Amino acid sequence: MYINGKWRETNKKEEVRNPATEELVGEVYVGGQKEAEEAIQAAHEAFKEWRAISGQERGNLLIKVAEEMRKAVDSIAEMITKEMGKPISDARREVISGAAYLEWYGEEAKRVYGEVLPPLDTKKHLMVIRQPVGVIGAITPWNFPVSMITRKLGPALAAGCTGVLKPAPSTPHCAIEIFRCFERAGLPAGVANLVIGDAEAIGKEMTSNPIVKKITFTGSTNVGKLLMRNAAEHVQKVSMELGGHAPFIVFEDANLDDAVSAVVATKFKNSGQTCISTNRVYVQESILDEFSQRLAKSVADIKVGDGMEEDTDMGPLVNEAALSKVEDQVAKAASSGASIVAGGKRKGDKGYFYAPTVLANTTDDMSIAKEETFGPVAPIFSFKTEEEVVERANNTQYGLMGYCFTEDLGRSMRMMYQLEYGMVGINDAAPIVPHAPFGGVKESGIGREGGTSGLHEFMEEKFISIRSS
Ligand code: ADP
Repeated sequence: MYINGKWRETNKKEEVRNPATEELVGEVYVGGQKEAEEAIQAAHEAFKEWRAISGQERGNLLIKVAEEMRKAVDSIAEMITKEMGKPISDARREVISGAAYLEWYGEEAKRVYGEVLPPLDTKKHLMVIRQPVGVIGAITPWNFPVSMITRKLGPALAAGCTGVLKPAPSTPHCAIEIFRCFERAGLPAGVANLVIGDAEAIGKEMTSNPIVKKITFTGSTNVGKLLMRNAAEHVQKVSMELGGHAPFIVFEDANLDDAVSAVVATKFKNSGQTCISTNRVYVQESILDEFSQRLAKSVADIKVGDGMEEDTDMGPLVNEAALSKVEDQVAKAASSGASIVAGGKRKGDKGYFYAPTVLANTTDDMSIAKEETFGPVAPIFSFKTEEEVVERANNTQYGLMGYCFTEDLGRSMRMMYQLEYGMVGINDAAPIVPHAPFGGVKESGIGREGGTSGLHEFMEEKFISIRSS
């Protein structure tokens, strides 16, 4: 742990294991409420000075952290792969994109502007200024164990906030690597603190300690709801990036080559373990057979294995529980009439590998059509009309990402407006960039990360009226 600029040990350690080999990655010191409280106090002290320096100065420090990350790209990437399994080339890309968030917010830190409003009474001068919310608590998941941290701490620190991060228990060494970059870049003590350990106790302290003014969380919808309930106690602000159930709609006028590779990318990258992973592939009836065959063929080329091997396309799932959930969803779908076109089973006798899977004849009443899969399974649903598919695509409590492939401009525009999702990718499988707002509607979350909105999430607007005689 890293509290008030010092590395901290406790009398308790927890093991971290590699999901590809089940071998020990390392052990970390863990804590709970006491360490969280101490870290919050340290952030509280550090806030006084951190908020008082210029945005430009804060930003320059963040840009330095990004440089440190890029210098250490190989060792950080290796840690990502060992802790959560993604292929090393994807892990390197994650480090670079994680650094890009710090850099972008580092640049934006000097561009936090206020406003001057026209008065009704000309003796008055009306202004709006933006100030940091204060100390923040950040809780991150394991699926992007590096970029989720920088996506939260980048805007928070740029805004002038200080805070405490609790990473996922399966990827603490990745968080340690990032905090080493903070340390090497010379971040003042207490500005960013790392507390590893008992999630419930740390989460409870973050939501009940009145010093903490905001909770920013990425993870499951259930934990997000719990944190929101607890945050209500002190009316803490919240940003929640929760589950998703992305529809991927392929119209008959789509470029099929592009659509197939986009399904592969959005479904099988990270072994399907991203909140914006495709969960339902809707294919128009007239192209159903051709599309399904092409997809099954493409999926057969995905090389599954230990992410440390350079030519691996897809690594394991994160743990046994994740693997069992996928097995269960596939078994349930198959017993209700879905056919397995590709994959459909575990792979190997070590690690948590599951073959890239394509299901055909899936229907809306199956659990896979409703529950987030978080695994490498692409269920194909057929549809007849645009109107029908929009209704079915929107028929979920989730609303994070929706994808659509069509060559028709008018249809693209209709999809853009009608899909009830926080983000829509039209003929684009990789729309995420640091300067765009990332986030969901409905039960997929509240608030945005990325872009100017992401920075404002960590700031309060203050309205001032000065009357002169
Ligand atoms: P996943 O199922 O993907 O691991 P979770 O929502 O369980 O998603 O985990 C995301 C993050 O939330 C992790 O850092 C985890 O330790 C943390 N977490 C889980 N339960 C709680 C809780 N009760 N309070 C605070 N944080 C929690």
